[in-house]
Amino acid sequence: MAKKIIIAGGGFAGLNLAKRLSHMPQFEVTLVDVHNYHFFPPLLYQVATAFIEPSNISYPFRKLFQGYQNVRFFMAD
Ligand SMILES: Cc1cc2nc3c(=O)[nH]c(=O)nc-3n(C[C@H](O)[C@H](O)[C@H](O)COP(=O)(O)OP(=O)(O)OC[C@H]3O[C@@H](n4cnc5c(N)ncnc54)[C@H](O)[C@@H]3O)c2cc1C
Repeated sequence: MAKKIIIAGGGFAGLNLAKRLSHMPQFEVTLVDVHNYHFFPPLLYQVATAFIEPSNISYPFRKLFQGYQNVRFFMAD
């Protein structure tokens, strides 16, 4: 039976952990985040100064893990 893992927060740390575990079918992973998208903080200033759109530094979790059988996403606090 697969071991269940809950990851709180889909920032750099949570996302990388979920990606790694996605190749290990012995784990059933649930990623939880208050937002339904991952975003890339280092480029926030580019958004703040209107050089790029917010959509350029954010990406929906569900799209990121599409096709992965053992990772699911919940939007929650
Ligand atoms: C403007 C800026 C520029 C940066 N530039 C660089 C850089 O150039 N190089 C570099 O190495 N680092 C940089 N950093 C630092 C880097 O972004 C952080 O070190 C890194 O994002 C931390 O990763 P993390 O996964 O620990 O947390 P985060 O990336 O902050 O992720 C936390 C996640 O948890 C979620 N969350 C928070 N609270 C809850 C809750 N109660 N319930 C559910 N989900 C929750 C958030 O929505 C978020 O998705 C920068 C940071 C900022 C703000």
